Amino acid sequence: QVVTRFAPSPTGFLHIGGARTALFNWLYARGRGGKFLLRIEDTDRERSTPEATQAILQGLSWLGLDHDGDVTSQFEGAARHAEVARQLLAEGKAYKCFATQDEIAAFREAARAEGKSTLYRSPWRDADPATHPDAPYAIRIKAPQDGTTVIRDQVQGDVTIRNDQLDDMILLRSDGTPVYMLAVVVDDHDMGVTHVIRGDDHLNNAARQMMIYEAMGWDVPVWAHIPLIHGADGKKLSKRHGALGAEEYQKMGYPAAGMRNYLARLGWSHGDDEYFTDTQARAWFDLNGIGKSPARFDTKKLENLCGQHIAAADDAALLQELQEFLAATDQNPLSDEKSTLMKAAMYCLKERAKTFPELIEKAHFVLTDRPLDYDEKAAKNLDTVSRGILGELTPQLQNASWTRDGLEAVTGAFAETREIKFGKMAGPLRAALAGRAVTPSVFDMMLVLGRDETIARLEEATT
Ligand code: GLU
Repeated sequence: QVVTRFAPSPTGFLHIGGARTALFNWLYARGRGGKFLLRIEDTDRERSTPEATQAILQGLSWLGLDHDGDVTSQFEGAARHAEVARQLLAEGKAYKCFATQDEIAAFREAARAEGKSTLYRSPWRDADPATHPDAPYAIRIKAPQDGTTVIRDQVQGDVTIRNDQLDDMILLRSDGTPVYMLAVVVDDHDMGVTHVIRGDDHLNNAARQMMIYEAMGWDVPVWAHIPLIHGADGKKLSKRHGALGAEEYQKMGYPAAGMRNYLARLGWSHGDDEYFTDTQARAWFDLNGIGKSPARFDTKKLENLCGQHIAAADDAALLQELQEFLAATDQNPLSDEKSTLMKAAMYCLKERAKTFPELIEKAHFVLTDRPLDYDEKAAKNLDTVSRGILGELTPQLQNASWTRDGLEAVTGAFAETREIKFGKMAGPLRAALAGRAVTPSVFDMMLVLGRDETIARLEEATT
């Protein structure tokens, strides 16, 4: 069974790059009936905060990236990590190093001054235990000193590292705390992780992590180190490029399905497919489709995909997500009455809206109440002549059959007898029905508002 995981360090919000890593792991597991686990890597006590953990959980929840089992805390596993270090010590695959910080710093300084490698080689590796002092020690792994380590990476290909470039990494510090590199390996092993998909900034760590897998005789997971995300200018994504947190995209009103589609395409491709559903993404996602070069963040493409997802969404689901958007941006929820109207109107609103604020703007005619306030353009469209015409049309609409055909027939016949182009009437009608100049089609608005409300708005505009 495939087991993937997302292992964020809770030091800030859910970064767009982190969201993409989580998504890739989620898609890979979900497409294969596997498990997607969530581990909070909170071993750095100074930088980890509960607020950051909350923000990460919230971001994942917005994106619909549900995880299996409990959220685990890496810090809470410290005793287990230490136990593995002690096991390697007992098996002679690790050793006690009594070198002090000062000694190591002095060694490095001297090496630097002489232009030699600063890779620390502990004299304790081969020391006779009888000579060990009664002093604090760190546990270091006995790194292989010759040959090579090959990381078989599904994205980067085989990455070969000369073992003489690896040092005897510390596993357990002299204060008894395990190092991060050990914690990651032990956790991944204990959690049964089969595939590690993460940013390629961790590629160097993989070589050191392999040493631990090998020393313990554990199966090495499948690695897939994905290139980082760049801004439109080709430079590494940073604050300079605008929003970085997933939450900011939620607040800008992008629908989660569109965001998922966009993030999936950010560094992964399936032929020429740009738009796809979640079901397709789960079925199609694989490691072969991950590109080797950094993907560029492209807001236009994000918006385009979001527009397509809004248009394709189920009306009730869209309404539900709109309510969540309102809550996330501290806006009042829609009343039951407005929700019902919104749902009825959704079919004509969801075309051409790329975000929830755009959807709300188009929905102005249902969200507003009489007396309407007319914006400047709408007020202009309701000049005396237009009001006269609308005043004559109103009684005819009163008797129309309230269907698209019925409304079109009455309005068309009226335009013909009065010898005015329908286009001339559309502006005033939009103004009277919505108080705005840009709206869905007038017949859609009439159908959604119903006869009584339509007539009432026309009367309000003409008297
Ligand atoms: N905690 C690491 C990070 O947030 C991820 C480590 C991993 O995926 O192995 O960058």
